[in-house]
Amino acid sequence: MAGYREHITVSGLCGVGYGTATTLLLGFDPVQGAIAGCLTWIGGMLPDLDARGGRPVREITALLAAVGPMIAIRRLVDVTGGIDATILTGILLYAAIRYGGTWLLDKFTVHRGMFHSLPAMLIAAQIVFLAYKSPELSVRLLMAAGVGVGFFSHLLLDEFYSVQWNGIRPRLAKSAGTAIKFFGPGFGPNAITYGLLMFLSYAVVMKSDRLLPPRMIVEQVEPLEQQTGPATPDQKATPNPKRPAISGPANQRPRDETLDRFAAEFGPAPL
Ligand SMILES: [Zn+2]
Repeated sequence: MAGYREHITVSGLCGVGYGTATTLLLGFDPVQGAIAGCLTWIGGMLPDLDARGGRPVREITALLAAVGPMIAIRRLVDVTGGIDATILTGILLYAAIRYGGTWLLDKFTVHRGMFHSLPAMLIAAQIVFLAYKSPELSVRLLMAAGVGVGFFSHLLLDEFYSVQWNGIRPRLAKSAGTAIKFFGPGFGPNAITYGLLMFLSYAVVMKSDRLLPPRMIVEQVEPLEQQTGPATPDQKATPNPKRPAISGPANQRPRDETLDRFAAEFGPAPL
């Protein structure tokens, strides 16, 4: 079994690679790439939340308690309706995850249980997708996939460590096949994991539909217009009721409502 140190080293390297690649090759903002890289690094620690007690679990829960509310900050501003309420909620969430989470994990998990599984990886990615509010769907996918990559690096490393090289012939340790798996031995943990996975998948599908940026909707409408031939000057003047009104150039990024909220509370940014 790979140790805590190996996991954070490997997922940290994956995070640097992921952040750099998505920024340079896919054109994401460098700050967004850096956040995604950090999420990859943290994702690589998550499966070991089921390792009972000890320093790693305390460190991971403390990190989650601090980073979790930050990741969901736009969502919190939305839900609570103000910056002060967001600060208070952030503090309460820290305490709940830090202390409540440790207690829950201690009571209900077994090491190498369903935390070390592919459905758990999808659950972690979907939670980030839902928590990270952004007007751009691609940014939410970037963050979700980052956690998924880190999580998978952990499972892969655990499996890799279960192959013991005895001279020239590899021998599988007892732990082989307990990290990268779809199902665990008990019915209860499987049912809870897959129930949660189905619920989150439904939520993700619902959210993704509503998140299509306006210009994508316009692109879907445009070809229809081209098929019916050029419009007469009269038709051109009539706005299409089905098409959402957009202002500014078509390639303009969707506005971030949280920034508007900050501006309403603290006044416009000095120029
Ligand atoms: Zn592990």
